[in-house]
Amino acid sequence: MAATPITIARGDGIGPEIMDATLRVLAAAGADLALEEIEIGQAAYQRGWSAGIDGRAWESLRRTRVFLKAPITTPQGGGFKSLNVTVRKTLGLFANVRPCVAYHPFVFTRHPGMDVVIVRENEEDTYGGIEHRQTEEVVQCLKLMSRPGCERIVRYAFEYARRNGRRKVTCLTKDNIMKLTDGLFHQVFETIASEYPGLEHEHWIVDIGAAKLADSPTAFDVLVLPNLYGDILSDVAAQIAGSVGLAGSANIGPQAAMFEAIHGSAPRRAGQNLANPSGLLLAAVMLLRHIGRPEIAGAVHNAWLRTLEEGIHTYDIFQAGTSRIRVGTREFADAVIARLGQRPDTLQPAVYTAGESPVLPAAAPPPPAVKRTVGVDVFVQWSPSQRDPATLARILGGLNGHGLVLTMITNRGTKVWPDGIPETFCTDHWRCRFTAPAGAEASQLQIVSLLRQLAQAEIDFIKTEHLCTFNGEPGYSLGQGQ
Ligand code: NAD
Repeated sequence: MAATPITIARGDGIGPEIMDATLRVLAAAGADLALEEIEIGQAAYQRGWSAGIDGRAWESLRRTRVFLKAPITTPQGGGFKSLNVTVRKTLGLFANVRPCVAYHPFVFTRHPGMDVVIVRENEEDTYGGIEHRQTEEVVQCLKLMSRPGCERIVRYAFEYARRNGRRKVTCLTKDNIMKLTDGLFHQVFETIASEYPGLEHEHWIVDIGAAKLADSPTAFDVLVLPNLYGDILSDVAAQIAGSVGLAGSANIGPQAAMFEAIHGSAPRRAGQNLANPSGLLLAAVMLLRHIGRPEIAGAVHNAWLRTLEEGIHTYDIFQAGTSRIRVGTREFADAVIARLGQRPDTLQPAVYTAGESPVLPAAAPPPPAVKRTVGVDVFVQWSPSQRDPATLARILGGLNGHGLVLTMITNRGTKVWPDGIPETFCTDHWRCRFTAPAGAEASQLQIVSLLRQLAQAEIDFIKTEHLCTFNGEPGYSLGQGQ
């Protein structure tokens, strides 16, 4: 079999040490890899590549389509933006898969038996980074969710569960509040779940679901989450399983995949032969399965489990009484290498026969919906000393000739006109809802005419959102948040 080309980056901080340890184990296990090394992160940034990654690196990634990446230091308050987000989104790596497993009694955990896989949507939600300061007082971040984006991550989670012998898929959202965005994710989850009658499925509101996950993680199996909740809860899950230093993750797309530890570059530990290389090593196990080398993945995983069982531990998981020998990064890798071919005695051995990552069937697009525009929300900055919504309503109601009717004013989502009460705190940011008379459509020209009149009246409008129905269903939130 020809060597498989993969791209590697040694990263920053503890990155080079844990990458070296991981590559030594892979070589000793007989993983026949043709390594292409790229430099990303601080080094590339300092050479003048503002995104922290250069053109040659992209060429390598597009050629090999498999990337083993050590952690990178993300500069705070300036410098390049998160390279992880850039690589994930540029290569279309929509699924982030993080197994979080307890290794009781060898690594301390309050949750023996925990074995959870978090499948996190990786491209959408608030991670588009589309943010605006709209008024003196108010900033916003757009949360964008698409039906195809929800469908492919949810289907990925069910296919992953089926392919990996899992029994249940749990979805967490906040669709009691975000009825359209999180509501879409939940609705897609229920639809796709019905195609997998052999798997249990359940939905929890994310706040109580997160509490339950932190308290009783053994109640869960595979979890599928929108991007932001998945980002937060996958760190919680890894930490309560034992340590963030132990978990690896895969970022999977239809054409490429990236494998990395979930932890960061731990700069304070760099260059001291202290760091635990396990997260990157387990990411490499996922990589080996991905490139069709399940037998080598199994050998590495089992040698690693055996090393943990024998109490050979790095500082982060070392516990007097349980651990036997405290080792550094290099010695830990040596211990794993010495145990290649062995299996754990107590912990569940890894048995891999195929890649863990499913290939998704192409989804049929839904029939096009009938879309009608029935009004417009105009957001305005308005900040007189007396912020009385009735005054604003009088000014806006005095504009006429555009054919639309002012029906509601809200401030940060709370209705303040009509029927507001003076206790409601109001910022300088007002959403003014204009709708067409009952049953009629609002034309683009009517909306333009309304905006022209607002401009002539020197009302500082800063954004509009059209109100549309799709097959008669409102595509906008109706009332107040909770
Ligand atoms: P971190 O994960 O680097 O470190 C958090 C703590 O965990 C530290 O106390 C560290 O000592 C410990 N730790 C982490 N990994 C360890 C390991 N392998 N062995 C032993 N101990 C380990 O998180 P941080 O300090 O918030 O971030 C440091 C830098 O890493 C930041 O610049 C951040 O942006 C970056 N980061 C990068 C990635 C990535 O590249 N995927 C992910 C997270 C954070």
